[in-house]
Amino acid sequence: MRLLSYVNPLQGTDSSGSLSRGSTMPIVATPFGMAHWTLQTDDGWGWQFQPRSPKLQGVRLTHQPSPWMGDYGAFVVMPQTGARALSAGRRATTWRLDKALIKPHRMAVELVASGVTLETAPTAHGAMFRFRFPDGGDSRLILEGVKGETHFEYRSNGLLVGWTNGNSGGVPGNFRCYFVARLCVPVVSWATFHGDDLGPVNEPRSADGLGICLELGRAREVTMRVGTSFISDDQALWNLEQEIDRAGFEEIARQAEAAWEKALGQIEIETDDETAKKTFYSCLYRTKLFPRTWHETEANGKVVHFSPYDGQIHDGPLYADTGFWDTFRTQHPLLTLLAPTRQAEMLRGWVNAYHESGWLPQWPSPGHRVSMPGTHLDATIADAVAKGIRDFDMEAALKGMLRHADGPAHGGPVGAGRNDIESYLKYGYSVNGGSVAQTLDYAYDDWAIAQTANVLGQKDVANRLLERAQNYRKLYDPGVGFMRARKADGGWVEPFDEFYWGGPYVEGGPWQSSWAVQHDPAGLMGLMGGEAAFAKKLDRMLSIPPYFHVGGYGTEIHEMTEMAVRDFGQYAHNNQPVHHVLYLYLAAGRPWRAQKEIRRVLDTLYSPDGFAGDEDNGEMAAWYVLSSLGLYPHCPGRPEWALGSPLFKRARIHLSNGKTLTIDAPENSPKHPYVTEVSLRGHVVPSSVVGHQALLEGGTLHFHMSATPSMRVTPIAGRPGSMSAYK
Ligand code: CA
Repeated sequence: MRLLSYVNPLQGTDSSGSLSRGSTMPIVATPFGMAHWTLQTDDGWGWQFQPRSPKLQGVRLTHQPSPWMGDYGAFVVMPQTGARALSAGRRATTWRLDKALIKPHRMAVELVASGVTLETAPTAHGAMFRFRFPDGGDSRLILEGVKGETHFEYRSNGLLVGWTNGNSGGVPGNFRCYFVARLCVPVVSWATFHGDDLGPVNEPRSADGLGICLELGRAREVTMRVGTSFISDDQALWNLEQEIDRAGFEEIARQAEAAWEKALGQIEIETDDETAKKTFYSCLYRTKLFPRTWHETEANGKVVHFSPYDGQIHDGPLYADTGFWDTFRTQHPLLTLLAPTRQAEMLRGWVNAYHESGWLPQWPSPGHRVSMPGTHLDATIADAVAKGIRDFDMEAALKGMLRHADGPAHGGPVGAGRNDIESYLKYGYSVNGGSVAQTLDYAYDDWAIAQTANVLGQKDVANRLLERAQNYRKLYDPGVGFMRARKADGGWVEPFDEFYWGGPYVEGGPWQSSWAVQHDPAGLMGLMGGEAAFAKKLDRMLSIPPYFHVGGYGTEIHEMTEMAVRDFGQYAHNNQPVHHVLYLYLAAGRPWRAQKEIRRVLDTLYSPDGFAGDEDNGEMAAWYVLSSLGLYPHCPGRPEWALGSPLFKRARIHLSNGKTLTIDAPENSPKHPYVTEVSLRGHVVPSSVVGHQALLEGGTLHFHMSATPSMRVTPIAGRPGSMSAYK
């Protein structure tokens, strides 16, 4: 447990729908594994684990990407002795968080009242459980489907087999999560149950949220090997046999430990600040959970997947459970640095999703779901292509991107395509729903698609989309200094209110939403009056009170509250739209302003315990990981990294090409947030950005840190890449 000892899987779990510190779950799994295991203190979909809840209902097999999206394919496992108590509410019993072991590779909990202990160690598609029951009582195991039609039977060959179709949407009618378990002791008797009602003995059954109660007599130590599958119970058994059958509990836990040590050990940091080290590795763990692997390997070695898009079994990889609106910003760019091979496999998966449904996904969880605007997978694709990760069918990806970029959106599955694409194509801006957010996202995504089209030699397509990438200009009103909703006739939507959230904006207002022009910071700066005015506006964003009007939401949503309880003015780091904004100071040639504020975010908005808001599938965590390394992908799709303010004295990044990139900042300390000079492999970097390929060559990226800023304005040639020229 070298680096795992720094990981706190409870980071961000102390959350609710009205105030998020991450809205995460403690997830026990292998990196990017299909099966996630968590503790259940609440039997709903959503905030199913509360660290302050004194009663435990069991260990849940979960696939939930976010409480806002809900769970699917969920089963709960709970050992018991003494009086039989079946339903989640009745069987819930005292556990103590302070005495529990919760780590990514293993979990151990004692049920205080009975002395029963339960332990879990994960594999990619299953887990091994170990239960210890005290002397003198009967031992019992309870399993329950959380929602949806659930089936259980105990077979004469000693296998417990079950499935559930519980889901939150985005799946075809034949969707099932299969669950197969092998116990090391004989089952004395079994019966299914529903609520608190036990059914007939030894009779298989299917019902909504069904459970099964297994009586194990006087068995004292019981192991249970579990395989899961979205394909079939036979495949679940195969997954079990491949991953778990030949090993004991400690061996399975050791394998998971080794997988995590390898994943975490890709970045080694040196710092005197143990708290920051815990934050760093807890965040790094969060960046390596989603999207989850959705494919499985058949007995003949072939990689296949059940398609949540068409309900068929297909060859090849598939991933699920990420929202590109969030994760294109930081988590996927981090993967281009740390795991390009896996990133390519994910891209093959998204292309498979296009083939199976006709559309590229936006919030696959596991199939198409409706949530958030934009088609930011475009940016993730462009980012990979620009960085040389091209081991996927780029032509098919381009076709998929053009389908949603050129419309129409109607006729496709719910959640696919671009909302109001017809207006965007007709007027150059959207006029319905989250029209400002949609327009800005579509313009950036159009730029991103053009990058891929260019690489494929489709210049006409690229030029057409690059023209559209300027559409953001149509919504900038110099009269108010913000992006603003426009009507079909060209007039502005009245009245304008700089603190109005929702309506044409999404999870923000003019202050949070007007900066989403990642591909053209020089163009945005020009609109906002040039570099001095632009920097002043950023200063103002950080210094005015966090006023907000509930606006189109009609009520105070958690993102408003989370902004208001922090000291960053309108810079609402609790949510994704502003995540590149501090790095826009680099476009204005004022890196010292970025450095100060980035350091303030790293120091005050993250801890080993929580986040400023929803973590969102590795995105909020990847912001920390990258920013603490002094690097940031200010424009995914452009193969360059912005230089910020590294947090540690040294960080060594072990790249997949075998080289090591060392981020060296020996003078670093809490009082030294400013960078006075950067050099790469001994050569001074005259820019505030550095190229991706240059980083891949390894060597030392040296930051000279200081207590006082170097207020030298960056020459235009050294600023972040931009579509328009800096003036
Ligand atoms: Ca969010």
